[in-house]
This record gives sequence, C-alpha cells and structure tokens, in this order.
Amino acid sequence: MSSPRVALTFDTEHWSHPSTPDVQDRILDVLGRAGVRATFFLQGRWATAYPACARRIAAEGHLVGNHSHHHAPMSLLTDAGIERDLAEAQEAIGEHAGVDPRPWFRCPFGDGHDDQRVLAAVQRAGYRNHHWDVEPDDWRPQRTPIDLERLVIDGALAHGDGAVVLLHSWPPATIAALPAILEGLAAGGASLVGLDEVTA
Ligand SMILES: [Zn+2]
Repeated sequence: MSSPRVALTFDTEHWSHPSTPDVQDRILDVLGRAGVRATFFLQGRWATAYPACARRIAAEGHLVGNHSHHHAPMSLLTDAGIERDLAEAQEAIGEHAGVDPRPWFRCPFGDGHDDQRVLAAVQRAGYRNHHWDVEPDDWRPQRTPIDLERLVIDGALAHGDGAVVLLHSWPPATIAALPAILEGLAAGGASLVGLDEVTA
C-alpha cells in the first residue's frame, strides 16, 4: 500500500482568543524546514491586516483558499450577501497575497457546509466548499499541545488516505504541537500534501 496522503489545512483569520501576530510566520518556518506543503484558507480582512504574511504563504507554494471576508456564518447571509462577501475576500487576497483563491473555499465555523442554499451561492461565486475529516478543536483555549498532537496524528492515520485536517493559524497550542505533528505523521508513513493533491 502506498503511503496515506494527509492535507493539513489552516483557517487563517483574526483570532478569537489571545495569540500573537508572529504565530503565522512560525507556522511557515516549521512547514518550510520540513518541506511540507499545506493549505491556508485566508479571511480577506486578515490578508488586509497582514499583507506580508499573506504574500509569504503564497510565495512559499502553499495552496491559498478563500475563508470569506467578514468571517460571518454563511447561513445568516442572503444569497447576494454570500456572493459579495466571497468577492470582497477574493479581491483582498488577490491584492495582498497576489493569487486567485478560486475555487477553494471554506465556510467560517463550517456553518452552511450542509446547506444547499449556501453551497449554491458559494458555487455561483466561483467556489466549492471544503469541509474536513479531522477536527482537533485546536482553537479551544484548554487544548494542550500534547492533546493536539495525539488528536491530529491518530485522527489522520485512522481516517486513512486523503484525510483533511482542520487547524487554525493562530492558537498557541497549534504552533507548539506542529513540529511533533509533522514528525508523528511522517513516522506513521503519511505524506503531507496540499488539498489540491487529494481533491479533484
Ligand atoms: Zn474561521
């Protein structure tokens, strides 16, 4: 059997609990040293606030997706509101990261991922929503790096080939656990890839 592919995805947005701006850069440092390509879903307003980091994500070859502009639950927006929000994010990501995030999209909070009205509006905007298989809740303040390491490694290897892992770019536990996550997945025989390498 060939090695199972695992896609680490980072929702990259204004944080909802305490963090520091350099966490995103430290994540890129760790991925770069390990030669790992990942996927970053950028909130448009985040890209506007951190243009150097947004550009670095794209320049280092990671896959860039759209994570909305305002990070509102999509099910609360009208169809036109969804299309406008995705277009605003696309413009901000294009301006600051220098790439077109289409067709990659992830609903904030996952809200609307199972709502046909939301998915149709997302599709009209030129995107497809990408949910996840492994959800370690790295954003919870009580999550320790050790918890996170086990949840990601065990969850991804249990899922098997093509596992999509949801992480966030800002929690302190995420950067603390990331080196051990990369080592553990490699030790488990996994190869780490972008979402575009596991999803057509
Ligand atoms: Zn988010």
